[in-house]
Amino acid sequence: MSIDRPVGDFMQRDLLECAPATPIGEAAARMRDARCGSILIVENGAPLGIWTESDALSGVWHTPGDLERPISLFMKAPVRTIPERTSLGEASRRFRQERVRHLLVTGADGRHVGMISQTDVVRHQGVAFFLHARQVASAVHAPPLCIADDTSFARLRELMVERHQDALVVTRGSALGIITPSDVIGALGARRVGVLAGDIASFPLQTIRCDATLFQARDLFAQNRIRHLGVVDEADALIGLLSFRDILDNVEHEYVHDLLAQLEQQTQKLKVTQQEFARQASLTDAILNALPISVFVKDEAGRMIVANETMAQRLGRPLGEVLGRAAAELFPAELAARVSADDARVRSGKETLVREEQLDDGRILLSEKCLVEVDGQPLLIGAAMDVTDWKRADALMVSSHHVLELIAAGDELPVVLDTLCRQIESHLPGALCSVLLLDAEGRHLLHGAAPHLPLAYSRVLDGIAIGEAVGSCGTAAHRGEQVIVDDIAASPLWSGFRALAETHGLRACWSTPFLSSARKVLGTFAIYYRQPRHPVQRELSVIGHAARLASIAVERWQQISELRRLATTDQLTGLRNRAYFMDSAEAELRRSERFGHPAAVLMADLDHFKRINDQHGHAAGDEALRLFARILGETTRTVDLVGRIGGEEFTILLPETGRDAALQVAERLRAAVEAASFEFAGATIRFTVSLGVSVCQGSDTLDRLLARADDALYVAKHGGRNRVEFN
Ligand code: GH3
Ligand code: MG
Ligand code: MG
Repeated sequence: MSIDRPVGDFMQRDLLECAPATPIGEAAARMRDARCGSILIVENGAPLGIWTESDALSGVWHTPGDLERPISLFMKAPVRTIPERTSLGEASRRFRQERVRHLLVTGADGRHVGMISQTDVVRHQGVAFFLHARQVASAVHAPPLCIADDTSFARLRELMVERHQDALVVTRGSALGIITPSDVIGALGARRVGVLAGDIASFPLQTIRCDATLFQARDLFAQNRIRHLGVVDEADALIGLLSFRDILDNVEHEYVHDLLAQLEQQTQKLKVTQQEFARQASLTDAILNALPISVFVKDEAGRMIVANETMAQRLGRPLGEVLGRAAAELFPAELAARVSADDARVRSGKETLVREEQLDDGRILLSEKCLVEVDGQPLLIGAAMDVTDWKRADALMVSSHHVLELIAAGDELPVVLDTLCRQIESHLPGALCSVLLLDAEGRHLLHGAAPHLPLAYSRVLDGIAIGEAVGSCGTAAHRGEQVIVDDIAASPLWSGFRALAETHGLRACWSTPFLSSARKVLGTFAIYYRQPRHPVQRELSVIGHAARLASIAVERWQQISELRRLATTDQLTGLRNRAYFMDSAEAELRRSERFGHPAAVLMADLDHFKRINDQHGHAAGDEALRLFARILGETTRTVDLVGRIGGEEFTILLPETGRDAALQVAERLRAAVEAASFEFAGATIRFTVSLGVSVCQGSDTLDRLLARADDALYVAKHGGRNRVEFN
């Protein structure tokens, strides 16, 4: 459709114009010659009025003299105008509103440049479709008005006006003719006001069948340059007149209908767009309000023009009270001044400002402000986020790293656990942490670490048997599950320990067992408070974290201890192996030397040991070695270092021991072995041992000391075995 195109594209540029003084007859003659339905009355280049065919019908013309009167007396004025840029759609609305069929088109300078008629508009509406779809019959609403050929000119004009006919059928016997307004114009132009209908009618009347399409009718109009057709039925009887205007009216109706449909469509589209816009806006609002970040936008005057719910909550006001307000109305004076100073910095420096601040309630806020230009207006956009949880998690992570580093570096378990307790206490103000370790049998709790618990209290707990109702920790270790006691005074689990806890001012205890990777309870991590308290979620997660670290520390420590044991112990006898004996003996010797204390070395070698193996088998030999190790344990002190340094060779370093005492120990040992026996496979087996003894002289090295003891042992062997020799 071309409804959006300007009327300037469709108007008639060749206007019929005449001066105001032009006689009606002359004007009509010019219209007749130009086959034009209207004439513009112009004076000094400006349009004064318009005179059309319908004016010709209704005028009072009785004598030719009437036709000499100036057209200015009969014209319609003023002429309605329309700018040439107006759309065709708008023009058609004007035609309907103002009930006119012609509009004078004016150019940009206001001068008239052409004429647009309703016919022009309709012609350009892509009407073919409508015309194809409709039959001629649909445009015929009444039988034609027929007049005899001797009807007077005045009467026929009267009929046309009164009966609103724009054509009359003229009968002359059986012949049919037609009179139209242009015939009236022709008569006026020829100054023949006394003519009869038969004189000006056109014969014969062109006809069309009622079942033809309007499109076919339009072709007939165009081909014959006529504006009326008689409509006949199947029997060729005249049933009506079809004028070009009827087609236009028809099309116009369809066109308006179509226009309305288009308007409706556009309105619908607009509605959809508006709905979409509203949907987008509410989506944006929903997103903004769901964000855990405070978001705001301020105009140049520092007033909030956008803010979300989180922002309103932070300010402690309903959102409606936040919008439109400036810092001074939203914050206490001191804070408002700081906020405004920040805003000014961002506005002047055009830089992003990032600030981290602690609020009165201890929470930490990270805020960022920057300047953004929107439609030429500098807007201050800000966002602020509560980063307390992140900061806490970060700090907890740093603490964990610290503890894990100690574990990885192989620090002693008490040091690691002590550090763990102190770190966790730094995250939970008022908390007193404690770690208890479950012993190898899984029956008793041993002290692990409790840097801030009263020492006397920790001592009582050290070695306590676990079980139901043994405080929070004994019960937690026993059950293998967390035990939260908010108020020790009211908990049946503490009935046996309430007085102890009260003595030390302990009121709450939350204990969490920590497990090995094999799900075995390794110990408990507990938090005490000096007031009754129930844990919040964050505290529980910190505790969970601590318990995991404790289990890593203890399990790792156990693994290291086991490895160390394997690396230093002789598997058969449980004594120090050669390498470990050498290391520890060397260290002990250095210590003795440093303090000027004496030290002695015993070297023992079982006598004829090969025979035990040979006579009773290797297993019997092993049993003899184990028995000897037991006797060694019984005859030496805990400070003495005992090692198995070869198959059936053992060495003992005796700190703070001189020659005589060393010889006594050796003799005691020799005698104990001689007196001992063991049963093996029905046989009683006995054996003896030879010993070489040496004592430290000055700055003896271990090697020298051992070499001397070895020499003494050699002498003992050669001296008959089962003896002690000194060197
Ligand atoms: P001597 O009185 O001269 O020391 O004689 P001996 O037989 O004790 O000495 P020898 O050095 O000839 O033999 C030591 C034997 O100890 C040889 C070896 O098979 C045995 N032996 C070494 N280690 C073990 C062990 O772990 N278990 C057992 N059953 N026998 C071992
Ligand atoms: Mg030997
Ligand atoms: Mg031997």
